[in-house]
Amino acid sequence: ARFPVVVVGAGPAGLTVGNILRAAGVDCLVLETESRAFIEQRPRAGVIEEWAVRELERRGLAGGLPERAERHFACEFRFDGQGYRFDYTELTGRHHWVYPQPLLVTDLVREYADVRGGEIRFGVQDVRLHDLDSDRPAVSYTDPDTGERLLVHCDFVAGCDGARGASRAALPPRTRISRHDYGIGWLALLAEAPPSSDRVLFGMHADGFAGHMPRSAGMTRYYLQCPPGDDPEAWTHERVWDQLQRRLSAADRPPLTEGRLLEKRVLDMHTYVVEPMVSGRLFLAGDAAHLVAPIAAKGMNLALHDAFLLGDALAAYLAKGDAAGLDGYSDACLRRVWDYQEFSEWLSEIYHGASHGDPYRAGTALARLRRLFTSPAAAAAFAEQYLGTAEAY
Ligand code: FAD
Repeated sequence: ARFPVVVVGAGPAGLTVGNILRAAGVDCLVLETESRAFIEQRPRAGVIEEWAVRELERRGLAGGLPERAERHFACEFRFDGQGYRFDYTELTGRHHWVYPQPLLVTDLVREYADVRGGEIRFGVQDVRLHDLDSDRPAVSYTDPDTGERLLVHCDFVAGCDGARGASRAALPPRTRISRHDYGIGWLALLAEAPPSSDRVLFGMHADGFAGHMPRSAGMTRYYLQCPPGDDPEAWTHERVWDQLQRRLSAADRPPLTEGRLLEKRVLDMHTYVVEPMVSGRLFLAGDAAHLVAPIAAKGMNLALHDAFLLGDALAAYLAKGDAAGLDGYSDACLRRVWDYQEFSEWLSEIYHGASHGDPYRAGTALARLRRLFTSPAAAAAFAEQYLGTAEAY
């Protein structure tokens, strides 16, 4: 078999690349290790920045987002027993969109496979990349039904298979991978409970950070800072809600609405950036190329940004012989990647300063936080970075 492009991974990045290629009349094959039902339900991100929403709309990829996504106008910091609302829409005229990742993935799969007629194989096993330094690379995999080993030749491989995929593992040893470990864990929780506020809440507390992220009318994502590598089972229902109530309490706000916990996972706050995001005929996009800790809800936005650039660049080259997009791809992505990494690190200090056990760091974190509510220039800078901009710096 032969396709101009093989896309490895059907997450937000891979499906967006596939859709852009189909719209440009370029054939591609998407390979995904999980089933369609699984990827359409996997809960993860929720926040999409406004520039990304506009790009999805422009490309006919917004699906149900315009009707079903919630628009957010403010977030709230809770510290010293008080709630401090931060009105970013008032400052910038822009908002955040909350559209759960499984809904976005469902829309993108439907558009790619059912509307644009793209080929996708689910449940493939043992994906391997070959001859990436030649102009005839290939991808092999085991067919889940027959157990047969199949080889697909192509011109380009789009490595969109996330943090644990085969693409990054296929990079040559000389590739630079910068890593940063925050030395912090977050217990990621999904609660079958209505949001307790119409906005994202950040709780800064000596016991550790806590976050509240509305997802839908009956579903809320919560985060609790914990030691890295902590056992999620040590977090019983009672302990989780006790700590959430404590860390997010504010005298002038009602207590949180509790509910059944559907997901409990410990995320170790570590990040990496692959530079360049290209090796021979392999182009990485999304989490395969860079992991950003979920501190500022940037991961899916970066994945979409890469995918818009990569889809356009591959289409321009394969349909018109224009190589400029592919040549500039890695640099254009990395500007935004590093910008978002820096912002996440800056915000991490605000979240975690109170719980380091170091009064010096607690003091500077509190100063950083107070500045957002006293200096209009600091508030404007935060709002701009929190919401993201169409052009990276
Ligand atoms: P993925 O979504 O990981 O997709 C990769 C796909 O490749 C998957 O379907 C996987 O099954 C498949 N795959 C894996 N290995 C192989 C292989 N060898 N061969 C073929 N296919 C393979 N980001 C935000 O912007 N906002 C948020 O609020 C936010 N919250 C988050 C909360 C949590 C708990 C987590 C874990 C992440 C969060 N993120 C958030 C990050 C966001 O989910 C990721 O950045 C995003 O999913 C990246 O998209 P992707 O397409 O690059 O990778």
